[in-house]
Order: sequence, then structure tokens, then C-alpha cells
Amino acid sequence: MGIEVRQLSFRYGPRQALQDVSFRLVDGQLNALLGPNGAGKSTLYALLTQLYSLQQGEILLDDQSITCQSRKLKQQLGVVFQQSTLDLDLSVLQNLEYHGALHGLSSCQVKREAAELLERLGLGDRLNDSIRSLNGGHRRRVEIARALLHRPPILLLDEATVGLDTAARQSINRHVRDLCRDNSLTVLWATHLIEEIAADDPVLVLHQGRIQANAQAHDICRQQRTATLAEAFEQITGLKDNTACA
Ligand code: ADP
Ligand code: MG
Repeated sequence: MGIEVRQLSFRYGPRQALQDVSFRLVDGQLNALLGPNGAGKSTLYALLTQLYSLQQGEILLDDQSITCQSRKLKQQLGVVFQQSTLDLDLSVLQNLEYHGALHGLSSCQVKREAAELLERLGLGDRLNDSIRSLNGGHRRRVEIARALLHRPPILLLDEATVGLDTAARQSINRHVRDLCRDNSLTVLWATHLIEEIAADDPVLVLHQGRIQANAQAHDICRQQRTATLAEAFEQITGLKDNTACA
């Protein structure tokens, strides 16, 4: 079940962005993809969402290659890309309606789902506000609601909290964890910020295009004999403080 990546490699011309990447997402949990800038996180998202074609290796959805099940992949995945794709001049609801229509949802369905999701994300009273009037954290939450409109079981977030202040970051992280818990949502949460990762999260450490560690955060610490994930990360990657790479 779920998403599995096998020996995935990808290059931009001579630049190797991913090398032999293999992992399986843990169902119903927030899977952290921890890596500094340039690690290959966004490239991995582009491959998982079929924005890019595979060069080497394979991606499986429920044990079958995604190349022959694009339609199912679209149904099963909700995606929040690193760059925002909201239309600033449209209202929150209009942005969601547009996306819902692409997924074949009726206007009624979108309204019902949108109201429920936005309520849960703390934006229940902002439905008719323009995106332009929302702060960065709220815009991100709208993108999360939009990604979940068609009720996918898997949510991919690429640096969803980048550029936000600490309070907004924590709030989004908490909201996504609540969705994981309440809806058994499987999440891939890409970040370069160790503070966003909890001790029992499954963690993939990606550095220079390779998976350098794949275990629960506390197990990575145990393997590395360190007290904190920050120290383990430093030991694994040789990077002193990964937040400095933002
Ligand atoms: P991350 O999202 O972890 O910051 P990326 O996947 O964006 O990493 O980038 C991985 C590597 O691939 C980096 O070395 C980056 O410079 C390179 N890269 C990314 N996109 C392109 C592109 N369109 N053309 C050439 N190189 C790219
Ligand atoms: Mg990126």
C-alpha cells in the first residue's frame, strides 16, 4: 500500500540531483524529508507528482508503477509545492472551486468540503476574502485545504513553512499533524528545519541527492549516538547547522 520509491536517480544535464533514492512512506504518519537546500527535495516531489518523467528507478503506488496509473495517482495525492500557486485576486473559495473543478467535483461538493477543511484549518471565516488579504501562513493553509479537497489519502508538502515566522510555522505543522491523526493521512513533509520534526516521526535524511538515514528520529539519534537530531544531522551530513542553509 502507499508510496514506495526504488533506486530513483535523476540528473539535470551533468548535475546529479538524486542518486539511488529508495524508501517507503509510513502510512498514516508524518514522514519528514529532512535536507538542506539543494539536497534534491523538490526534484523528488516533481518526480512523485509526474511533473518530471522518470530517468532511472521507479515509483510505486500500491505496489504498481505510477507510470501506468496517472489517474489514480492524481486521485490519491494532494500536493503543496514549494512555490505558491494561488491566484491572489480570487477569493479563497474561488481558488478552491477552480481546483475542485479540475478534479471533477461539483460546486456543491467543493463548497461543502472547503467549508469543513477551512474550518479545521482555522480559516472558517475567510472563505470570501481575497488571497491577497491573507498573510503568508494563512495562504499556506488555503493551499493545504485545496490539496485535500478531493480527499486524497496522501499529502505531499514541499517546504510548506518556508519564509514563515515561528508561530505560523508551528501552527501549520500542528494542523498537518492533526489531519494525520484524525484522517489517517500519510504525509511527506519536506523541510530543512529540524525543529519541525518530532522524536517518533519517520525521517528520511536527504543530502547531496542521497538518502543518508531512514528511521524514526529517536532511532537516528541512537544509531549516531547523539542526544539530539540536530547533532545526528551534523554527524551524517557534515553540516554544522542546517538552518543556515535556508
Ligand atoms: P531542494 O529542493 O532540496 O533545495 P532541488 O531538488 O531543488 O533541491 O535541487 C537539487 C539539485 O538540482 C541542486 O543542485 C539544484 O541546483 C539542481 N537543480 C534543481 N532544479 C534544476 C534545474 N531546473 N536545472 C538544473 N539544475 C537544477
Ligand atoms: Mg526545494
